[in-house]
Amino acid sequence: MKFKYQFVEFMPDVIQERVIYISLEYKSVIHKCACGCGEEVNTPLHPTGWKMIYNGEDISLKPSVGNWSFDCKSHYWIINSKVEWSLKWSDETILRVRRDEDITRQEYYRNKSSQILVNDSNELKDPLVSKPIKTNWIQKFLFWK
Ligand SMILES: [Zn+2]
Repeated sequence: MKFKYQFVEFMPDVIQERVIYISLEYKSVIHKCACGCGEEVNTPLHPTGWKMIYNGEDISLKPSVGNWSFDCKSHYWIINSKVEWSLKWSDETILRVRRDEDITRQEYYRNKSSQILVNDSNELKDPLVSKPIKTNWIQKFLFWK
């Protein structure tokens, strides 16, 4: 089955089946579970969350969507707007993946705060600084990612 997609600013009150709603403004992507159970799936875009690929015609989401908090526990990839079913996860796998995600998240925030410290101290030594410090810092930070 293939999803349609819609770029929106705000998420609509009614989420249609088989439509992926994307709000770049709020970095959020919402669709109804591909199994048809009617649950709404929120896959926020974030360095430690989901990434979206839009090729001008189709949407892909990475990583896969694991709806372990729903009764259906469905697990699938959305690749080029199509659903590619994946294996259902056992309780053990769910626990492991959740733990891995927590670690990734913690590392992300730890790195992020150390990057800020490093960038700030470089600022003082950098002979090329000619822009306001704040702008320069943002540029460096974006480049870093
Ligand atoms: Zn479902």
